[in-house]
Amino acid sequence: MSIDKLKLSKIAQNGTQSTILQIVRDNSPISRSGIVSLTGQPHAAISRSTAVLLENKILLADSGSDTNGPRRKRGLELNSDYGYVIGIEYSADGIEAVAMNTAYQPIAKTDKKTDLANLNQNQILELICESVKEVQKKVKMSEDKCIGLAAVDPGLIDDDQGMSVFATTMCNWNNVPVVDYCQQQLKLPVMLLGSSKAKTLAVDRMELKNSIANLLYIEYGRGIACGIKLNNTYISGEGHLAGELGHLQVSDSNVVCRCGGVGCLEAMASLTALAQTASSSIESNNSILSQNKSITGMDVLRAAAQNDKLASRIVDEAFDRLGAAIAGLVNILSPKLVLLDNIINEAGPDAVTVLMRSLQKTILASHRRQLEIRISSLTSHIGALGGAAAILDNCLTV
Ligand SMILES: [Zn+2]
Repeated sequence: MSIDKLKLSKIAQNGTQSTILQIVRDNSPISRSGIVSLTGQPHAAISRSTAVLLENKILLADSGSDTNGPRRKRGLELNSDYGYVIGIEYSADGIEAVAMNTAYQPIAKTDKKTDLANLNQNQILELICESVKEVQKKVKMSEDKCIGLAAVDPGLIDDDQGMSVFATTMCNWNNVPVVDYCQQQLKLPVMLLGSSKAKTLAVDRMELKNSIANLLYIEYGRGIACGIKLNNTYISGEGHLAGELGHLQVSDSNVVCRCGGVGCLEAMASLTALAQTASSSIESNNSILSQNKSITGMDVLRAAAQNDKLASRIVDEAFDRLGAAIAGLVNILSPKLVLLDNIINEAGPDAVTVLMRSLQKTILASHRRQLEIRISSLTSHIGALGGAAAILDNCLTV
């Protein structure tokens, strides 16, 4: 098989198997009867397909279950030893890689902190492939059990061509044939996806187990973005450009945003904005930040958590704007759950209260009653986890 024809091996061979595997993924351990009641499909069809999946060692029946008697109890799970996939996320800050087994459990991770912003395309592609090999070395399964790789890109992608079109954060990252290059070098099927979609999928699979049909995931960092799942469908929009919450205009000020606009949420409230505001305010203030040679957004969040007056004022103002912007989205899209980036916790409980209050204040009473707002528990490798989950999801569909 030529490299350019590398295709992902499907784990599910037909629609019934696909349905069963997705139900087991989200509800394991689960009995055959449990699957029948969730799908409404005939018991005989579910039993037949389950038997094939058990025989092929794609599913396992756990040792405590009664699979022989007439009353088949709990116990079907995805087989974690069937194989594994790799998710890799690259950004201006470096490269994070995750190996995930076929039961959606992370089994190895690597984290390379390197400034990729000014490297040329080949240097970055080489580093990506090196990271894949490094994480593979940590996996105890043989290399031929590796099903595929998902590359999670920080910019705009072209799905059909498997190319990264451009990324504002990496200056030479234009029209890069990521899929072709990685397939040639690694001899693996490669999928390319955007970071916002990957991160939403990560929280949905790893944290929520696909239990929420209407979800907003708010990414907060140097940029601000929003992952959207409505009526059980991930919304990516024309050209995969949906979710640019950071470029909602929230202020009449003339603060310029990296998109070229002014007064965008990202320019007023992101980590980058916090760092800039703190740096320009520091001299006239007595702040613990004045000891820093250079100030990052994370420094400002952490100083706020220590009740530093300057940092608290800056973070409170930013979180007030962020809360109002998210509330606007809630009123339009009516999610059941808003999940906030774990980084928010770094600002401490008082700042989180400011954010929650701002959110609650602007949400319609009808929406507020059915809404839950939480901070995600995922702290690292989120894009890479989502990439790995995306490729496994693909294997479970036909
Ligand atoms: Zn903008």
